[in-house]
Amino acid sequence: MKNTIEGKNIVIIGSGIGGLSAGILLAGLNYQVTIVEKNPLPGGLMRSYRRVGIDCPVGVHYVGALGENEPLGKMFSLMGIQVSELFFKIEQEGFIDRYIFDDFIFDLPVNLDAYGNNLRKSFPREARAIDIITNNLRTIMKQMTNPSFLLNQGDPFQNTDYYQPFGKFLDNIDVSAGLRAVLGVPCQLFGVPAAECPVILHHMVLAGYLLSAWRLKENGSKMAEVFVRRFLELGGELVLNNGADEILTGAKKINGVRLQSGAELSADAVISDIHPKVVLKLLQPHSVRPSYRQRILELKETEGVIGVQASVDATVHPETSHNIYKLTADEEGTITDGIFYQIRRGSHQSNLLSIITRSLYKEWDQWENTFSGKRGHAYETKKMAIGRELLQKAEKVFGPLKNAQIIDIFTPLTIRDYINCPEGSCYGVLRSASQLMKVASLNNVPVTGLFLAGQNALAPGVLGSILGAFSVAKQITGAERFNRLTGWNS
Ligand SMILES: Cc1cc2nc3c(=O)[nH]c(=O)nc-3n(C[C@H](O)[C@H](O)[C@H](O)COP(=O)(O)OP(=O)(O)OC[C@H]3O[C@@H](n4cnc5c(N)ncnc54)[C@H](O)[C@@H]3O)c2cc1C
Repeated sequence: MKNTIEGKNIVIIGSGIGGLSAGILLAGLNYQVTIVEKNPLPGGLMRSYRRVGIDCPVGVHYVGALGENEPLGKMFSLMGIQVSELFFKIEQEGFIDRYIFDDFIFDLPVNLDAYGNNLRKSFPREARAIDIITNNLRTIMKQMTNPSFLLNQGDPFQNTDYYQPFGKFLDNIDVSAGLRAVLGVPCQLFGVPAAECPVILHHMVLAGYLLSAWRLKENGSKMAEVFVRRFLELGGELVLNNGADEILTGAKKINGVRLQSGAELSADAVISDIHPKVVLKLLQPHSVRPSYRQRILELKETEGVIGVQASVDATVHPETSHNIYKLTADEEGTITDGIFYQIRRGSHQSNLLSIITRSLYKEWDQWENTFSGKRGHAYETKKMAIGRELLQKAEKVFGPLKNAQIIDIFTPLTIRDYINCPEGSCYGVLRSASQLMKVASLNNVPVTGLFLAGQNALAPGVLGSILGAFSVAKQITGAERFNRLTGWNS
């Protein structure tokens, strides 16, 4: 862990959920914090956008562990943000996700005991393997709800078995292809193939949702505004439409940030809520060792996605609180295709059907040198063709979609340009078991006063990004002081 910083002046690059959370924490601890954002509106992936009067989500579809004594709920409370202002708990239908495979359906219920029961019902001959999984999840849930989890979140679990690939772990407990496929679905949520996913990441994400699962009452823009409001209330400053152009250093120490406008902000510390490969571009070549630069540039990315937003008739297609995954798995139980569906409230006559599935960056590379809104006819045609195909596939799940109209489509290029991430990398650098050590070393940025927050610091998702913000705030203030000032321990 790095040394704490001298001085109070902090600049955060990027106003995603990680940047805003770090800003709230540090402003609340009396630092002078400025967040600089390249986009005209704050929030990054958390923010939704409007088309034909309907709010379309980008990066917040559902979230786990927001209950009062659960990690995300506790972190919201420590930041002074009310969960009930933003979220409702998914409980009325009794399940969070429906997994539709070609030959069977599995419902992910809202708690661990019910999950174990559903698994036993679907896979009656695999009680031993199911017990091992549910016992692991129980242990993780217990640790996640223990206050010390929040104190040690950089290295929460000492059990090295948890760092092996999930695929190998499943080989060891000898699961069938069907059970392997069901257990692998949560990995779709953070873009790491199940076979290569560290056990700990799989377990923490699944345990988070089994603790409790939540959806936004309104939309991601409201969520972004609530985070911004809290940051400003605590005296933070937000600069929009004026991103960081260069991180200024002297003798391997941070001096500040030069903005796109040419203005310079001096800083005792800079926190980056943006992709580490982009951070390298903002640093002068001499400011980091070539070996560190090389290590970061070699990191593999999570894959891109395409998102189709379609309005559908609200009376025929009511809002549901559960999500649907339509999945195809091969004979070994490896998921080869997955499509995520969510129906949420739209305008009074229409609801919104969001569809998300994998889309490789290289499928779009002929438009690599173009920018959002200016990619031309051929790109729009390709996007629409995929959109229509995905709508047809959706009809196999929902039946005929009444009054379905595509109102927007985003591709890996859209995400790349919107948040400035290489290859439209949806969940940042790939946290596969084989890349885990390299990814962990990301946080040892060899420039004094430069820190990472957001999904690339510890883990992706709302939970991962906010955990990363807490971790960086703790590094900057010093663990003991941070725990004392936040009452973290109590
Ligand atoms: C399609 C999709 C669906 C998802 N669904 C869920 C979900 O249901 N639940 C969940 O928990 N997670 C979900 N996620 C993941 C979650 O949205 C992200 O992990 C999280 O929002 C990332 O936050 P962040 O703080 O790392 O940064 P980001 O949201 O990436 O924000 C980074 C910000 O930095 C800004 N920036 C970039 N370069 C500069 C610069 N040079 N100067 C200034 N600013 C700059 C960007 O404009 C952006 O605003 C989803 C992600 C995607 C892509």
